[in-house]
Amino acid sequence: MTDLPRIILANKKQGSLLRFHPWVFSGAIKKIEGDPKDGDIVEVYSVSSEYLATGHFQADGSIAVRAFSFKRINPDGDFWKEKIRNAYETRLTEGLADNTATNIYRLVHAEGDGLPGLIIDVYADTAVIQCHSIGMYMIKDHLVEALRACYGDQLKTIYDKSSETLPKNFAANLTNQCIWGEDKGSVIGVENGCKYNVDWFTGQKTGFFIDQRENRKLLGEYSKGKKVLNTFCYSGGFSIAALLNGAKEVHSLDSSARALDLVTQNLELNGLQDANHKNIKADAVEYIREIDVDYDVIVLDPPAFAKHMSARHNAVQGYKRLNAQAIKSIKPGGLIFTFSCSQVVDKYMFNSTVMAAAIEAGREVRILHQLHQPADHPVNIFHPESEYLKGLVIQVN
Ligand code: SAH
Repeated sequence: MTDLPRIILANKKQGSLLRFHPWVFSGAIKKIEGDPKDGDIVEVYSVSSEYLATGHFQADGSIAVRAFSFKRINPDGDFWKEKIRNAYETRLTEGLADNTATNIYRLVHAEGDGLPGLIIDVYADTAVIQCHSIGMYMIKDHLVEALRACYGDQLKTIYDKSSETLPKNFAANLTNQCIWGEDKGSVIGVENGCKYNVDWFTGQKTGFFIDQRENRKLLGEYSKGKKVLNTFCYSGGFSIAALLNGAKEVHSLDSSARALDLVTQNLELNGLQDANHKNIKADAVEYIREIDVDYDVIVLDPPAFAKHMSARHNAVQGYKRLNAQAIKSIKPGGLIFTFSCSQVVDKYMFNSTVMAAAIEAGREVRILHQLHQPADHPVNIFHPESEYLKGLVIQVN
């Protein structure tokens, strides 16, 4: 027995928790015993008093409980240490946590690591925490201790970047800040031998799009002697991978001038300041409409076009237009690396959207690779919502 507040579910609402899906929606609750506040830890029970899960309570939003354990536990510092250690050991198994060629990886991928509401990204000697639930934010001192216990002297900085991802009311007076160690704003990390200056302070997300690591490596393998257009390039991840692997020429395109400054920094960092490379500040959709047919490889990695179901139809139309333009204008035999990170557009819908684009473009297209998020972004099989990145390498004739 614990004295945690209790959430009692309505009749027949326990099925998803019994299958380890970690969310309890407010509509599934019959009764609340105790007086939990947003962020408090609660236990969840069925209507017949069967223990189901322990998790963080949050009345702000539609998900009332995010479960982090399906066994009755005492959620003290040791519990969080074990959770973080499990995530770390998985990254060791994946060859990421102890790897001199790659020290940029995701340590905690929320539901995929049994820690709903929590993202932790590691950049060399720095961990950047991003909380998506109030409960995870409230235990951040435990997280700091757990990270220090795991990494020891290898860790120099822990930065909290939660102010944009927590509910607005709660986050109104929060600032992003260094919560342990040396207060710096960026660090140089390495991914498959490519160096990147990761700036979490002003950068997008936690500073880098770690989820494209394996896809950047694959692009490198296809780049030798090729002319590459990298659209939606952010800090130039795909561009650096292409150039270090012998691309003949690379154009990096983004609508953000700040992103293109990061590309320039990353080129210098890799000794590529004199490479055959050009930054292009433009809207990718408009630019691709105008290009000549002389690229061998085009990367299309837009931000999520749909964040919610209601925006899905327009998003699909957006992906179709973008892909159709790229298919029309690539050299015969050329490759397009095309992606979607919209969770509501699944891989089947994305494939049919690219097929519709190929029909519109009127060219022969075949799929060489079907791409996805890497192993440090694991998907809980009972929580398909954590699968979001999908991509195709298509060849156009
Ligand atoms: N491929 C990148 C990540 C892309 S993130 C990597 O490997 O790191 C999406 C990028 O698209 C952001 O940098 C954003 O500034 C840019 N962007 C958003 N809308 C755009 C548009 N209409 N045209 C060009 N770039 C755009």
